[in-house]
Amino acid sequence: MLLKSLREEVLEANLELVRRGLVLYTFGNASGISRNHGLIAIKPSGVPYEKLTPEQVVVTDLNGKVVEGTLRPSSDLATHVELYRQFPAVGGVAHTHSEFATAWAQARRPIPCFGTTHADYFHGPVPVTDTLTADEISSDYEKNTGIAICRIFKNTDPMSIPAALVTGHAPFCWGGNAAEAAHNAVILEYVAKMAYYTLGVRPDAQPIQRELHDKHHLRKHGPSAYYGQGPAR
Ligand SMILES: [Zn+2]
Repeated sequence: MLLKSLREEVLEANLELVRRGLVLYTFGNASGISRNHGLIAIKPSGVPYEKLTPEQVVVTDLNGKVVEGTLRPSSDLATHVELYRQFPAVGGVAHTHSEFATAWAQARRPIPCFGTTHADYFHGPVPVTDTLTADEISSDYEKNTGIAICRIFKNTDPMSIPAALVTGHAPFCWGGNAAEAAHNAVILEYVAKMAYYTLGVRPDAQPIQRELHDKHHLRKHGPSAYYGQGPAR
């Protein structure tokens, strides 16, 4: 079996989405990539999570062609492929229809940074894609969804905001590997819920100030990070 540990990692990331209550039935999918092999491991389409095995995880190349696996890959594969192609630092992608993040996607509103939980993970508002045109929907829909996500990161490092809301659809999240992508999907849902509640408590709530946002993000990420138990500096 090709890429056994990557398949196991991808299976585990998919199960994490279920454990955290982010997916209903077979909605959602997570994948991971081996950059050395140029191969992606992704959840098969429509298989119930509780029955998933590493053997069923489908391996494809960066054109979305199945290299190993008897099942069809997730129907969102082309979106994952596009993110891997355009975001070289991405090692894993997770897509869910989690309740609160999807509500923001449906409302076509970016999630403002109302607090430090958000700032720790997302260095800016979580953006929303433009609406796809009729042509973009009628052919290569999943690929065009990926292109729409990449377009909003033209001037932003995707690793500094590892998520996007697809207008009228739901979030896509990513990270250095599949586990990180799933983790970011869980945090995004929490942040989306808190933002919703914040506006309920105070409809004219404002995002936190830039300094606090930067402080929280940069103490966890980047060359000056000092949060957690990293190497002593
Ligand atoms: Zn979806």
